[in-house]
Amino acid sequence: MARVVVIGAGVGGLAAAARLAAQGHRVELHERSDTHGGKLGEYRRDGFTFDTGPSLLTLPQVFTDLFAATGDPAPLAFEPVDPVCGYRFADGARLDMPHDPAAVPAALDAALGPGRGAAWQALYERSARLWDLVGEPVLHRPLRARDLARFSTRLRDLQMIAPWRTLRGLGEALLPDPRLRAWFDRYATYSGSDPRRTPSVLSVTPYVEQRFGAWWVPRGLRRLGDALLDRCHELGVAVHLESEVVEITTCGRGVSGVRLADGRTVPADVVVSDADAAVVYGHLLRRPSGLGTRLRTAVARTALRRAPASVSGFVLLLALDGEGNGAPAHRIWFPAEYDAEFDALFRRPAPVPDPAVYVHAPADPALAPAGAEAWFVLVNAPPHDSSPTSAHGVDWDAPGLRERYADRVLEVLARRGEDVRDRIRWREIRTPADLERDTAAPGGAIYGTASHGPLAALLRPANRSPVPGLFLVGGSAHPGGGLPIVALSAKIVADLIGPA
Ligand SMILES: Cc1cc2nc3c(=O)[nH]c(=O)nc-3n(C[C@H](O)[C@H](O)[C@H](O)COP(=O)(O)OP(=O)(O)OC[C@H]3O[C@@H](n4cnc5c(N)ncnc54)[C@H](O)[C@@H]3O)c2cc1C
Repeated sequence: MARVVVIGAGVGGLAAAARLAAQGHRVELHERSDTHGGKLGEYRRDGFTFDTGPSLLTLPQVFTDLFAATGDPAPLAFEPVDPVCGYRFADGARLDMPHDPAAVPAALDAALGPGRGAAWQALYERSARLWDLVGEPVLHRPLRARDLARFSTRLRDLQMIAPWRTLRGLGEALLPDPRLRAWFDRYATYSGSDPRRTPSVLSVTPYVEQRFGAWWVPRGLRRLGDALLDRCHELGVAVHLESEVVEITTCGRGVSGVRLADGRTVPADVVVSDADAAVVYGHLLRRPSGLGTRLRTAVARTALRRAPASVSGFVLLLALDGEGNGAPAHRIWFPAEYDAEFDALFRRPAPVPDPAVYVHAPADPALAPAGAEAWFVLVNAPPHDSSPTSAHGVDWDAPGLRERYADRVLEVLARRGEDVRDRIRWREIRTPADLERDTAAPGGAIYGTASHGPLAALLRPANRSPVPGLFLVGGSAHPGGGLPIVALSAKIVADLIGPA
């Protein structure tokens, strides 16, 4: 039995703690904030309840497997979301994407014109083959250079993965309709990236959403975090909230434990960090022992400093008078010029002037008082950067900016035909700076670093760190962000550590 310390009670940390405790290890978890869940947050006020982070779950089987591997297989119910999302395009076209993938081509033809369904079906089938090829080795195991080498020596695999091709390039080659291409481009942002620079292998993201469906947890996705915390308690994990780790300590053999903000040290044989990888390599690991380890740590730190940050999000929580009109619970309004958004996110950081706007208005009576609705509004935003030049982001704490930009987002929504300004009882604004304060993710970047360039997958921080006994889980490490992917990182790490 190893003594394991887990840093952070995000989904990655909770899932790792539960798996390692179920494998027979003695696990204690330290979380700096006063609550669990990390980015899977919740806000309650005056009878309204909002998920402040995720609002759509894909690959629920990952969580079913996690719960089954650690105890009661079904502590939660997952409900299908149908339609998955209502897409509203700048020219007025409306596409309600069905949950059933077999119904998608006809929906595309009806909304966007004949031939659109067949074009997407061809790309869907291509992505299915890609998923069969890369899904297992990339998402379920540490990424090994030899897997990538194997792909690159088989010509057919290499042509399929085409690391030199971007998501944008693939969309331009196979999708004839600019609205369909905008929809496809958006999936790059689900890993915090720019479709013009992210590899085309990310075409598996819309495929996975359709093939395995989009899901919701009644009373909010936050219930998933509650169920994971309960599971940790059932398995005897000692969970310490308001307990910040300020250093990962090492000795000759590797990791030796952690030091807490109150000065106490906690010895450990294994440390699993759910803190952002940039925080691990930039702050928590001071001077690991051993020249080789120090060198490899320095390489990881430098790579992270050079990598572009993923996008963050600007969120409005709206307590609205009046009830829903039967529109899909999830909707996205696209701008006329989508590239201007990617330029503002990645080239010349600025609040996006005319952003794509995502709204989640759950039709769940538990989440709002009678006669009212709780809306979560999200637009992509550059990360927070309060340095004098703000070269890598935006100073979201600049006086007046949050209120001004909130007004702007509501005005954009109104211009696109959804004016709710006279229904607002109150609003709560969450900027990337707030996300950074809440979760310690640098700049409030949601997915750590952006996945840009042909080697993006290889350059992502590995689950096994150069320091023996120190492992990384969570959205900033391999295989990436998003609830199920983060939970898979916990499985990879638990498999690497092995049973007691
Ligand atoms: C607005 C928004 C919308 C999203 N929408 C979706 C969606 O619809 N679907 C989806 O699947 N995903 C979505 N995501 C992404 C998803 O929320 C994340 O990928 C996932 O929750 C990240 O989990 P994590 O465990 O990696 O990290 P986090 O949730 O960031 O958890 C890290 C934890 O570590 C703690 N910590 C950090 N440093 C220390 C330290 N030194 N000591 C102790 N504790 C520390 C933090 O306080 C935090 O609790 C969204 C995220 C956001 C913000």
